[in-house]
Amino acid sequence: MKLTLMGSGYVGLVTGACFADLGNDVICVDVDAGKIEKLKAGHVPIYEPGLEELIRRNVAEGRLQFTTDAAGSAEWAEVVFICVGTPQRATGKADLSHVFQVAETIGKNIKKFTVIVDKSTVPVGTAQRITRYLREITTVEFEVVSNPEFLKEGAAIKDFQNPDRIVIGTESERAREVMNRLYSSHARVNRPILFMRTQTAELIKYAANAMLGSRISFMNALGTLCEKIGADIKEVSKGMGLDTRIGPRFLQASPGYGGSCFPKDVRALVDVMESLQLNANFFRAIDQVNELHKKSHLGRLQQFHPRLSGLTIAVWGLAFKPRTDDIRESPSLTLIEQLLEAGARVMAYDPEAMENTRKLFPWVEYTHTPYDAVQGAHAVMVMTEWDVFRNLDFQRIKAAMTEPVIVDCRNIYDMEEMRGMGFKISGVGR
Ligand code: NAD
Repeated sequence: MKLTLMGSGYVGLVTGACFADLGNDVICVDVDAGKIEKLKAGHVPIYEPGLEELIRRNVAEGRLQFTTDAAGSAEWAEVVFICVGTPQRATGKADLSHVFQVAETIGKNIKKFTVIVDKSTVPVGTAQRITRYLREITTVEFEVVSNPEFLKEGAAIKDFQNPDRIVIGTESERAREVMNRLYSSHARVNRPILFMRTQTAELIKYAANAMLGSRISFMNALGTLCEKIGADIKEVSKGMGLDTRIGPRFLQASPGYGGSCFPKDVRALVDVMESLQLNANFFRAIDQVNELHKKSHLGRLQQFHPRLSGLTIAVWGLAFKPRTDDIRESPSLTLIEQLLEAGARVMAYDPEAMENTRKLFPWVEYTHTPYDAVQGAHAVMVMTEWDVFRNLDFQRIKAAMTEPVIVDCRNIYDMEEMRGMGFKISGVGR
């Protein structure tokens, strides 16, 4: 099939490369000419395991192309995906300006029946709004389908190949036939494909993210109680998660959720509900707990060093989670801002996210290894659970530090073992 993806970010690139790998002819479009030039030259502008190899192979075999020519690519395709960003406005509302810019380009250029698939996360009712908008600018036949994206950065290719489910919002038989063809290889291996109305599909995306965010905020809120009463959130989590009605996933205390999806999607859900005069207190609390929690880690450090001015603090992990270079709304950024404000010198290490962080905090010192980051440090804050932090040489680390203090915001270390080695350590919720 001939597929065009409007927007070549995490979602557009991964989806485009994966569909090309299934034998489709794919064009990935972006307004960012620099990004397209890089892609044409063989450089992948984001870090996602396996993506570079997948893109290289499909470009070499002639199935995958990159361009800034949105008009020509919209006209060429049978299916046009909308994969542009839907960032948050100051009010919490989702900013749909990129979505409607792309919709306009599609509407002005299609010449034959085209299925327009929205993969961007958008408020309920957006597919219907796009349909109404397009009817004003084209007489060509089209269908707008909602197909929300559930990929997890760091495991995005696996998620495409083996999704828990594929959600498709359309009531059109013609669009359904096209979508069935598009996902036929997934159907063959029995991945669930759910068809429904567009509004329902759009809501499932927000509902899933709000549920995952609520589990994280639930555990972090409970963690504050654990810290006061001497309970251990890791054990609480295990004891809860073994209940098959609850399950163990997304039940860990952490520095708080970040990334390009959970924070903005929870706030957008609040906005949608409030705009319909519904009580959104439950969903608002998820965000409030998370924002407060992200600011609380400085206090954990101050248990050891009440005054931070002039001290050197190492930060391990900048990405909002491992196996990505994405730092959007990462708890590390909140912490670094607080540390700098308190007058600390910050040494940071992350396997993939240092270049992105350097653009925001050029005055932080970035190091080549986790060992370099702790050189002379008065404490190390563990903010992302990259595997590399798990089995380091802690005797070497202790010898390099001015003070052997670890604030383990991911609870990856055995506290007794660390204390046995001479470290002072605290975690989250324990
Ligand atoms: P991104 O910011 O990485 O990429 C968006 C791309 O769209 C950018 O490269 C931008 O230059 C481009 N763009 C903007 N306007 C354009 C236009 N008019 N024409 C062509 N390109 C244009 O965003 P992302 O992380 O890929 O997310 C895209 C959407 O998917 C968002 O709605 C997001 O909420 C949703 N989503 C993201 C993830 C994720 O993990 N990143 C997962 C599921 C859903």
